[in-house]
Amino acid sequence: MDHSTQDMNSGGATEHIDMRDGDDFVCPNCACEIMLKHHGDRSKMAGMQMFVCCCGTPMEFEHPRV
Ligand SMILES: [Zn+2]
Repeated sequence: MDHSTQDMNSGGATEHIDMRDGDDFVCPNCACEIMLKHHGDRSKMAGMQMFVCCCGTPMEFEHPRV
């Protein structure tokens, strides 16, 4: 069972980002790379956003899920 259909009908514009433990993120600008060791509590991420690099650029999945 892997149901991830817990939409909160409050924001609307909030884009769900499918982050998981161990995901790698890279910065397309300066090539910084981070790893998400542990994904926190989704219920407290009302306005979830992608990680932003220390250079100010939003990071991207290193291994995007298709
Ligand atoms: Zn960067």
